[in-house]
Amino acid sequence: MKTFPKGGIHPPENKLSAGSAIEVLPLPQSVVVPLSQHIGAPAVAEVAKGDKVLAGQLIAKAGGFVSSAVHSPVSGTVTAIEAVPNASGIKVMSVTIAVEGDEWAPEIDRSAKLETECTLDAKEIVAKIAAAGIVGMGGATFPTQVKLSPPPGKKAEVLIINGVECEPYLTSDHRVMLERGAEVLVGVGLLARALEVEKTYIGIENNKPDAIAHLRQLAGTLVRRLPHIEIVPLKVQYPQGGEKQLIKAVTGREVPSCALPIDVGCVVQNVGTALAVYEAVQKNKPLIERVVTVTGKDIAKPSNFLARIGTPASALIEAAGGIQSAEPVKVIGGGPMMGRAMSNPDAPVTKGTSGILVVSAREAARYTETGCIKCGKCVTVCPMGLEPYLLGRLSQKQMWAEAETGVVVDCIECGSCSYTCPARIPLLDWIRLGKTEVNKIIRARLNC
Ligand code: SF4
Ligand code: SF4
Repeated sequence: MKTFPKGGIHPPENKLSAGSAIEVLPLPQSVVVPLSQHIGAPAVAEVAKGDKVLAGQLIAKAGGFVSSAVHSPVSGTVTAIEAVPNASGIKVMSVTIAVEGDEWAPEIDRSAKLETECTLDAKEIVAKIAAAGIVGMGGATFPTQVKLSPPPGKKAEVLIINGVECEPYLTSDHRVMLERGAEVLVGVGLLARALEVEKTYIGIENNKPDAIAHLRQLAGTLVRRLPHIEIVPLKVQYPQGGEKQLIKAVTGREVPSCALPIDVGCVVQNVGTALAVYEAVQKNKPLIERVVTVTGKDIAKPSNFLARIGTPASALIEAAGGIQSAEPVKVIGGGPMMGRAMSNPDAPVTKGTSGILVVSAREAARYTETGCIKCGKCVTVCPMGLEPYLLGRLSQKQMWAEAETGVVVDCIECGSCSYTCPARIPLLDWIRLGKTEVNKIIRARLNC
């Protein structure tokens, strides 16, 4: 079975919520919608305090080429436009809306009817995706319309849909494939048309055999209306959801150091993004809600919720039965490997929130670090072929030029090195620091 050949680990899967069907989360009393919930320039507010808005109405336009529009996830009144702490505690400009009823913009088709026909050409599809504020929903949050617009001289040949969900605990993509599979497939077809590619694959790890079988069966029934889509089962291995690892696993193509997938003719999109593309193009629905996994061994009822953007994370935890443990816990936005600790549990769900994970203080405890025993395990597991022990040491010593030579910027922050290190050295923390500093130096050198 296919997989990527270099490095990788197999942490316990802990997919506690895999059997929990998607539930629609009740509307909160108010939502906080950040204007910067994507990579690139923040969106620019188009509403003022006191304005009445409908669900799906534009409230902020894209602030540049690499940016994304933002829409109201609810109907109600704008009560504030101010800087509000995000999940990391950093204040970001946000629109707060008091919820009043649930009235949607009239152009949005809320029926459940599957719309398979589309007469739009590539440019028109990309324009609709941009207008709907769609970003990469696997967590990267790169504006989708930019990824669908290769720079001059570059041409996409292959579209790969990421249904891997290799992060332990997370199940939102799995449930989307099972419950919204037909819409996902139509969305994949629209993405293929937007890129004008002939070859389209959906990569799914084989710990989700029900999703593989379901999408294959659906692709068979929709075959006359869709381009050929090949469902590719992949051997379970973390971090297969990384773009470069997925491209290698599915196509055998190698994205060189410091290069992008488009440099080898590939574009990768997440299954959640494909669903959002279907809704934007076929139903005129902007990205105002998403499926979020709420999980952890101390969560009463691990769940998958369809939540409006801007809903406080604490409301999702409460809806999942709350935290059972009386001991302190750590709340993580995302999975245990690549997620980030949330310093503010009332922070809103954003377009990139795939999961909210609650771990006990015991599970999250940092072990006492001992000296490197030069076992080489961190090198063996690194999927990017880096030398984590060395990059960690260079960052500790602030040797940025040497860290750049060691291609610290190639690190995908998967955490495999830290996970595997018997000396409990927090390699990723050091490498992340080095990557940030080296990126700053490179940007200053390029004057950008
Ligand atoms: S976090 Fe970076 S250095 Fe460590 S294994 Fe992953 S890619 Fe390699
Ligand atoms: S895994 Fe840890 S102990 Fe082994 S070489 Fe890497 S840093 Fe050193």
